[in-house]
Amino acid sequence: TQKLISPLNYLQYMFKYIQKASVDIEKMFDIMDEKPEVFDRPEAVDFHCRAGKIEFKNVSFSFKPGRPVLSNLNFVVEPGKTLAIVGPTGAGKSTVIRLLFRFYDVMAGEILFDNQNITTVKQRSLRRYIGVVPQDTVLFNDSIRFNIRYGRIDATDDEVDAAAKAADVHDAILGFAEGYDTKVGERGLKLSGGEKQRIAIARTILKAPKFVFLDEATSALDTNTERNIQASLQQVCAGRTTVVIAHRLSTVIAADEILVLRKGSIVERGKHKDLLEQKGLYHNMWMQQLTPDKHEASDSGNE
Ligand code: ATP
Repeated sequence: TQKLISPLNYLQYMFKYIQKASVDIEKMFDIMDEKPEVFDRPEAVDFHCRAGKIEFKNVSFSFKPGRPVLSNLNFVVEPGKTLAIVGPTGAGKSTVIRLLFRFYDVMAGEILFDNQNITTVKQRSLRRYIGVVPQDTVLFNDSIRFNIRYGRIDATDDEVDAAAKAADVHDAILGFAEGYDTKVGERGLKLSGGEKQRIAIARTILKAPKFVFLDEATSALDTNTERNIQASLQQVCAGRTTVVIAHRLSTVIAADEILVLRKGSIVERGKHKDLLEQKGLYHNMWMQQLTPDKHEASDSGNE
């Protein structure tokens, strides 16, 4: 999987940056090792957040000429609704999320947030309204409280605690020797994957963004741990316009629309039940999840 946030090489730089700045998730992207490729246009204006609608209109994208990664994608996510994206590896799911965050500009078509073209607004003014929960959360080597507060730097301790409770990580934090003051190790190594993701969720709950982009962990089935985290994910998405790369049954069941991507195109779309009845790719992927050892879940992407 192409990670939303790659491991960071610039931790030290980041700390200096954070200490003197009011921070938001955008900065995390600014300083990741993958340099942003797009810049604000000189005439860019502030984004005006309204109800929270997202639209892809005839969007195509490629990294290399002649090898389309996304071809003519069309979808609308109405305010507060959830769009789930599924598909074989290499289908272009992460690329959709990256385009939504404007890591890259589209080759054709347009991406609209509340009817404003993503290329015409100042990135910072839009990213204020975006929360991202990546598959692998990179935590700062600082206290747990700091890591959660990163979502909204002026949040009070009570607000941090409330967010942690909503993300179902409060009790776990109290179980650590120094509670909220416990330092997470370099890159969060002292925490389990689930705890790290919950901290990312708490951070996003604190940010209370209009738009949430989520990359679920790739566990095929709902295990106990996964099921627990599901409740916190629902908290973070409730009432927000959400685009999620989905791997969990409960997510796809709850989604307002599911897009099935294959080689950069939408091959099926609809709700879980309807897609299962179609007995197509979605149905196959589903069966494969139920009996993972019988099939190989791969698709080489663009030939
Ligand atoms: P997975 O489920 O494995 O995460 P995905 O559906 O998210 O896959 P993407 O990561 O969006 O797929 O990748 C879509 C295609 O774009 C793949 O063929 C991938 O190899 C290619 N690709 C992704 N990132 C880059 C890049 N930075 N440069 C060139 N090609 C890339």
